[in-house]
Amino acid sequence: MDKKSFREEAHKLVDWMADFYENIEDYPVKSQSKPGEILSQLPATPPTKGEPFGEVFKDFENIILPGITHWQSPNFHAYFPSNSSYPSVLGEMLTSTLGAQCMIWETSPAAAELEELIINWLKPLMHIPDQWTGCIQDTASTATLAALLSARERKTNWAINHKGFDKQKLRFYCSSETHSSIDKAVKILGVGTENLVKVAVDDQLAIIPEALEEAINKDIKNGYTPCGVVAAIGTTGTLAIDPIDAIGDICAKHKIWLHIDAAYAGTALLLPEYHTLIKGIEKADSLVFNPHKWMFTNFDCTIYFVKNVDALIKTFEILPEYLKTNTRGKVKDFRDWGVPLGRRFRALKLWFVIRDFGVEGIQSRLREHISYANWLVTQIDAHEHFELVIDHTLNVVCFRAIIANYSADQLDRLNADLITAINATGDAYLTHTKVKGQYTLRMVIGQTYVQKHHVESTWQVIQKCLKPLI
Ligand code: PLP
Repeated sequence: MDKKSFREEAHKLVDWMADFYENIEDYPVKSQSKPGEILSQLPATPPTKGEPFGEVFKDFENIILPGITHWQSPNFHAYFPSNSSYPSVLGEMLTSTLGAQCMIWETSPAAAELEELIINWLKPLMHIPDQWTGCIQDTASTATLAALLSARERKTNWAINHKGFDKQKLRFYCSSETHSSIDKAVKILGVGTENLVKVAVDDQLAIIPEALEEAINKDIKNGYTPCGVVAAIGTTGTLAIDPIDAIGDICAKHKIWLHIDAAYAGTALLLPEYHTLIKGIEKADSLVFNPHKWMFTNFDCTIYFVKNVDALIKTFEILPEYLKTNTRGKVKDFRDWGVPLGRRFRALKLWFVIRDFGVEGIQSRLREHISYANWLVTQIDAHEHFELVIDHTLNVVCFRAIIANYSADQLDRLNADLITAINATGDAYLTHTKVKGQYTLRMVIGQTYVQKHHVESTWQVIQKCLKPLI
């Protein structure tokens, strides 16, 4: 492709993108592709000679697009959203165009300084203590790994590789409801997954602080070293909220690193009325949240706030000759703030989003999403064949179909069939979870451009799909 074709094709592509967003509701939300269907339509070997972009794009439209699930559809209510928005897409386009690798300040000063600015903007908005700092990482999984590695290093005085600490005696704590990225991080830490203690939860699936303290005391008695606790502000299944204040007291008492996984629900901290969710935050050591989930910013974009940045840098710092610069110590070299060396310019799209929406624009959209979830809850409550499985938090509603006299197994099967039927319509996409052993439908109302009528129509689809099943 030469310069002239790039200009022509890029212009056409921008029109295609705008049309795509305008017509996104015409596509099935969940791809209806069968396994192997995409692969079977593509040549098994790469082209020997280059092909015109028009040909490639035709294949994109005809073969690739049907295999895409439309996460940007306002009828996408599955998992957690992986949001985008118009300003975010423009930011991504520029990031790709610049193609800057922002590992240290000198490799793109603007990227480092914009990242610092974003953290400074978000901290007071989200009720994060002023003395904390932070950076932008790729995913919550990576940030949580960084937190737990820092916890391990701090607890062993950064001597773990030198003095032969017994890693098998280090203990971490979370609940059975916390995300699998905690289990993965503990695997990578090399402390043995048996050293991740799953603490008991209450009827709203939040950690019971007394159970945490009991587990810690028992471990200390048995010669273990409590090292890190991960509390969730919004678990993946039901958005359960762990009590940070009480957990923070326990962690402070035992000098344990407290990491808060607020991957999805953290965005709600942009609303002052939800600052109570992190009451006691000053007792924690770090918090992660994903603007790429609910803050209208393309994947990947993760904010990692940390109280003691020295502990983080001391954990990750490596200084090969080729990365030594004259500005070292005077600027922020974010390569030392996490696992990867190379870094994308992620701050740009988030800066575009915040400037385009404005803080009030973001806040009003979040409040709308929460109000739609409240509406859905009233509908479910009033329906004879549906019930809420647990109190809802923010904009995640967990519910299931019920039929009098059905056994637990029959109800599980009914709800599994219901979700399959809903997703086969292509009109909406929901996923499930298990709550206290029960198969549960889970509807997340957080896609950037979702409106009340989308929630109403999905509710109609759900009821319509149930009818032939009962
Ligand atoms: N934490 C929670 C509560 C999540 O729900 C998820 C993903 O859904 C993650 C962490 C992992 O997020 P990421 O894909 O950014 O690693």
